[in-house]
Amino acid sequence: MEITTEQLDRLRRMLEKPGRQVVLLAHTNPDGDAIGSSLAWRDVLRRMGHHVTCIVPNRYPYFLDWMEGIEEIITFKTDEEGRAAAAIERADLIFCLDFNAVGRLEKLSDTLATNTRAERVLIDHHLSPTTDFDLMFSYPDASSTCYIVYALIERLFGTQIITRPMAEDLFVGMMTDTGNFSFSHLTPDLYRALAVLADTGIDIPQLHNNVYNSYTEGRARLFGYAIDRKMKLLENGTVAYMSLVEREMRRFQFQQGDSEGFVNYALTIKDVKMSAMFLAHRRFIRISLRSRGDVDVNLFARRYFNGGGHRNAAGGKSFDSMDETIAHYVRSVREFAEEGGLGPF
Ligand code: 5GP
Ligand code: MN
Repeated sequence: MEITTEQLDRLRRMLEKPGRQVVLLAHTNPDGDAIGSSLAWRDVLRRMGHHVTCIVPNRYPYFLDWMEGIEEIITFKTDEEGRAAAAIERADLIFCLDFNAVGRLEKLSDTLATNTRAERVLIDHHLSPTTDFDLMFSYPDASSTCYIVYALIERLFGTQIITRPMAEDLFVGMMTDTGNFSFSHLTPDLYRALAVLADTGIDIPQLHNNVYNSYTEGRARLFGYAIDRKMKLLENGTVAYMSLVEREMRRFQFQQGDSEGFVNYALTIKDVKMSAMFLAHRRFIRISLRSRGDVDVNLFARRYFNGGGHRNAAGGKSFDSMDETIAHYVRSVREFAEEGGLGPF
């Protein structure tokens, strides 16, 4: 990951004049990285004297509710007063955080297509970003968007401006996007950044507890049910999937965020190299994909589910029924395996 002086100079020029109207957008189903990077970057821009509004397409998971200033984030889906659209309309500058294409904003992307002439800056770590941005900080080799925001702060101002709440925001994104520091891109520079964050006095066990040990009883029971009753294996036990329909979710008082981590669990089985989760929403099925090593679920999601993401974590959508979606997955896995997509590498 290399941020060039030219990119930094362009960003500096955009932010030179204080009092600019700035909007920060993060992706649909915002996660710890989307929210953490939004909150930290908002803090930086406010301190530079800008007016900043954070917008997310739909609600963030409840286990992030404790984050300082999160209640100020506008959820587009339930924003009846039109505050999000108004902020976008008056924006001079829009930052897109933790996603690679405006289409990932779902309905909110319509507002962005017609109601603004603001300059757009991308700060993101997903593969294959689209090019409709005026300035791009796109680093697929960064483990999180929060790490990119950290690096930007370091280069623009020096890390001494990082306060404890900012360090908490950045830590949450770094922790969640790396699966609590267990996935790829765990570079020495990331650990140096973490040391700087730790220096601000953040309570790391507490942050871990807030994010990972704050679920409901219903979620714990749904997890047991999903693994025992719904997880299926394919391809000699090397590929897994599970699905949940609305009736099953209701039975366990499902809330947004409750299925977080389910798809990863199948990868705790030694032979499983790829795992999928199919979650019914009102109008479509959301697909989450995870893999190990060289198995490329970004490619799989793009080819078979009109989605994308990272090599080992991707997603997509289906507008077919659950049965049809699963049948399509089983067929696609077969084709992918025949073409060598599951190895040996
Ligand atoms: P998750 O399974 O956690 O929802 O998503 C895993 C990764 O895939 C995330 O990095 C997310 O941004 C990406 N992703 C999820 N759904 C989609 C999708 O519909 N389209 C694209 N392009 N990426 C997605
Ligand atoms: Mn991310």
